[in-house]
Amino acid sequence: MIDNLIMEDLEKIKSSVPRDFFCGKKVLVTGGAGFIGSWICDVLVDFGANVVALDDFSTGRRSNVDHLVLKNNFRLVDSDICNFDVEERFDVVFHLAAHASPDEYMANSIQTLLTSSVGTHRVAELARRNDAVLLFASTSEVYGDAEVVPTPESYWGKVNPIGPRSCYDEGKRFGEALLVAYSKQYGLSVRIPRIFNTYGPRLREDGLYGRALSRFVHQALTRQPITVFGDGSQTRSFCYVTDTVSALMLLAASEKAEGEVVNVGNIKEVTILELARKVLEFTASKSEVEFLPLPADDPRRRCPVTAKLERLINWSPNVEFDEGLKRTILWFSGKTH
Ligand code: UDP
Repeated sequence: MIDNLIMEDLEKIKSSVPRDFFCGKKVLVTGGAGFIGSWICDVLVDFGANVVALDDFSTGRRSNVDHLVLKNNFRLVDSDICNFDVEERFDVVFHLAAHASPDEYMANSIQTLLTSSVGTHRVAELARRNDAVLLFASTSEVYGDAEVVPTPESYWGKVNPIGPRSCYDEGKRFGEALLVAYSKQYGLSVRIPRIFNTYGPRLREDGLYGRALSRFVHQALTRQPITVFGDGSQTRSFCYVTDTVSALMLLAASEKAEGEVVNVGNIKEVTILELARKVLEFTASKSEVEFLPLPADDPRRRCPVTAKLERLINWSPNVEFDEGLKRTILWFSGKTH
């Protein structure tokens, strides 16, 4: 079932993305049952694209796309990105398959590296054979524990290549390098958004998969302690999912964005303690804040410079943090009984 809140948010995305570019196109979405992938599938199916969503459900959820499986322009393929096989030709590929949650990717570090390296190579070959536009979901994590904040695309990053987060960071850095090489050697039409923290309905809150924001919301709604790591002074910049998805789809459709590496995110930086306080306030929860040790190599600050994105696709975020957080809480409230 698709609920009203998501329907309303999808309308917002649809009003900012060019339907004509996607209508009738054959589109592959790797990680199509994941948080961001499933939103893209929703928009594409509505726009009349022929969509193949590939997912191995290691982190994605069937419930994110259940409502699409009976549509005749949607097909779900249950497969690992490292050894998938699809016969069709594609015009556009959104390559989002990844292990993005720190606790989960640290527990599955080899798979995380292979998904970004072997998986991205397979997708690059497929896109090359098809002469397709390929959008690769890179990440703010390529900057590591950045010394330049707000961070522009020109910053090379400060990453520990053998640290606990390296499987994700270095995997994505390899993915970027590989696709830049494909673009140079074969003329592959790539777009490489570096996606900063994104939140909203469908962001996983559970177990190893949970991210700070969705975990806090779930903890507050179920009266569990809010687990703040360290003293909570580390920052993140949170972008509501409709803004991120609009940016990704506009980038895919934009010729100006061809070959570009570009930050996608919101420039409002908040501390994790501030986030915890807002969640407590907006849920009127009686949960306590519990301070736990800060994980190793946890980036101190994270905030993008988005001037390039604005220039390329004339984008700016539409959803204020408080509004997005309240919508997210509303959505999770409907799921938590
Ligand atoms: N964090 C936290 N409590 C949690 C989960 C995460 O305080 O239960 C912190 C984490 O240490 C990091 C920030 O919140 O500083 C954002 O974590 P998230 O899991 O969302 O992913 P990240 O942005 O680090 O990739």
